[in-house]
Amino acid sequence: MVSYHDPFRVPVSTPIAAMPTTILIIEDEPAIQELLRVNLQHAGYTVQAAADAAQAHAIVDQALPDLILLDWMLPDTPGIRLAKQLRGTERTRDIPLIMLTARGTEQDKVNGLEAGADDYITKPFSLRELLARIRSLLRRRAPQLADDLIQAGALELDPQAHRITGAGRPLPMGPSEFRLLHFLMTHAERVYSRGQLLDQIWGDHVFVEERTVDVHIRRLRKALSPAELDHYIHTVRGAGYRFSTTQEP
Ligand code: CA
Repeated sequence: MVSYHDPFRVPVSTPIAAMPTTILIIEDEPAIQELLRVNLQHAGYTVQAAADAAQAHAIVDQALPDLILLDWMLPDTPGIRLAKQLRGTERTRDIPLIMLTARGTEQDKVNGLEAGADDYITKPFSLRELLARIRSLLRRRAPQLADDLIQAGALELDPQAHRITGAGRPLPMGPSEFRLLHFLMTHAERVYSRGQLLDQIWGDHVFVEERTVDVHIRRLRKALSPAELDHYIHTVRGAGYRFSTTQEP
């Protein structure tokens, strides 16, 4: 292994592990919370659970989940108000959100969707249907978590094989760089700040320093350079980073 001096003292041998897909359940009924937890874990998700809005805020403040299941009726804050709060905050605006409720009238569905929910499921629900809706929503709203082959310019990313190919040659890279590139390629042409990338790639903006992002960007460019594609990762001064196959302006 090639070692090089790292001014930010993040050891090369201990990359920060990328996180699996995390779902936050916000549900005060213990039996339903447990049913959801067991089934989502069985489906391969990492599950966090909150029994009210205050617990949910505390969890989200620590790390952004990849998707939220939100019960309509919570003891402290109506679920619909929590949905509006999440949508009204820049950091949490884009988290995929499914509302769970015993209500099923047309007006309730409209209210839930207007509050910012992406989807709506009525209790009692079929777990198979819920899992299908979760997968569909993640595919639509979080393509970096899906297994679809991504191509951009001369670069190809295959999530199933965990393989990057640039101009026809394999480009090995670490798991954090892979996940970073996957996110950037599925969100091409948009600028992301270091904080946003920490939230998205490491699910953590509290305990990981923003300079860590620069370290992984540098490693990513180094991994892309054998195919001379490192210029796909643009630095946007004062703002962050952007993936684009076009030349930097
Ligand atoms: Ca409830």
